[in-house]
Amino acid sequence: MEQTFIILKPSAIRRSLVGDVLTRLQRKGLFITGIKMMQLDDTILREHYAHLVDRPFFPSLLRSMEATPVIVAVLKGKDAVAVVRTLVGATNSRLAAPGTIRGDFGMSGQENIIHASDSPENALVEINRFFRPEEIFDYPMITAEAIYCPDEMN
Ligand code: UDP
Ligand code: MG
Repeated sequence: MEQTFIILKPSAIRRSLVGDVLTRLQRKGLFITGIKMMQLDDTILREHYAHLVDRPFFPSLLRSMEATPVIVAVLKGKDAVAVVRTLVGATNSRLAAPGTIRGDFGMSGQENIIHASDSPENALVEINRFFRPEEIFDYPMITAEAIYCPDEMN
């Protein structure tokens, strides 16, 4: 099954939303296969947000993402990348649909609670950027038979 990568940003840490956000993702049926707290720095953020380094808001984005440690996690499920992006909602929290994480918990375009990988290719790159192989766990997903039909569990 597919795996995707998320960051619970400093906005989630500061506002004590870690439990609420992880609960939503777990209740949906996603399995946590890796999770840890870490302090991000300019080097890793310049890689992670390489598509944004020339944008005027990039210095502010660096300050925002370094403001506190973050929680990074890997989530597993069928079509996990697309499913998690749908749950996360639009980048600008004020425009994100009600029912999405950003739509329900935020008011900002930058302080938008959570990062999620935007394609399966980027998910692999991001998982390897933030996790060592031994930090990702492959354990029996014993509730999967209640979450999926047999054809969906490949
Ligand atoms: N961001 C920002 N201003 C913008 C666009 C993006 O501060 O005009 C920040 C915001 O925190 C966003 C992150 O940069 O989550 C990465 O931007 P991206 O376009 O990749 O959006 P995402 O994939 O997070 O929805
Ligand atoms: Mg993005």
